[in-house]
Amino acid sequence: MRDYNKLVKYLSEYGVTVSDDRLEKLDRYYDMMIETNKSLNLTAITEFDEVIVKHYIDSVTLIRDIDLRQNLSLIDVGTGAGFPGMVLKIIFPELDITLFDSLQKRLTFLDGVISELSLTGIRTCHGRAEEAGRDKNMREQYDLCVSRAVANLPVLLELCLPFVKVGGKFIAYKSDKGHEELESSGRALSLLGGSLNKEDSFIIPDSDMVRNLLIISKDKSTPATYPRKPGTPGRKPL
Ligand code: SAM
Repeated sequence: MRDYNKLVKYLSEYGVTVSDDRLEKLDRYYDMMIETNKSLNLTAITEFDEVIVKHYIDSVTLIRDIDLRQNLSLIDVGTGAGFPGMVLKIIFPELDITLFDSLQKRLTFLDGVISELSLTGIRTCHGRAEEAGRDKNMREQYDLCVSRAVANLPVLLELCLPFVKVGGKFIAYKSDKGHEELESSGRALSLLGGSLNKEDSFIIPDSDMVRNLLIISKDKSTPATYPRKPGTPGRKPL
């Protein structure tokens, strides 16, 4: 097995211990990602040391703000190769996770990972967030929604907040542009029933990358008008 000390040390700062069995799963996930990446565009980051920091540690930084060692339902919108959702499931097995994306090929890769690692309480789901967010089986069904590198905040709020239960939270994994995006999201937040709970900005350990986790509370039910038709949130942000 490769060296997971950086990740183990990071998690221990938050009182989280990871068994060797979980690290072996991460190691197998890395192998599968590198192998599949030869024929399918999953990630530009392939060096192991970089994957540890920019994919694995980055994904679990949410532990700074939310105790993930509990049975919460979480949807990862635009999960791509499984970041942050797949890493969160491997490290925090009590989470019930839905990996959502509009690109079936990436989900087929993730289905292979779920089966190879014998993970339970996790599934993939294919669709456009604009449509799934109107489906009664998915609308306002999740305690948490997370999303990294999918869209600008005003657009992302319309794609993600409809999935969150009233009383739940949406967490946008943003860069140093996050604060600026937040400043242009006031209207979207109030129309969609959300408000800023916390802005948590920090440097991802062992990197020079700024991560700004924007934690949005869902205060009120999202009006039935949202999300609008596929493509409209991006073309005409709220
Ligand atoms: N979250 C991953 C990460 O950070 O590595 C992947 C980011 S990738 C740049 C964006 C992903 O969002 C793609 O896999 C794309 O298919 C998905 N996506 C974009 N718009 C979407 C939408 N409206 N509904 C569902 N998935 C969407």
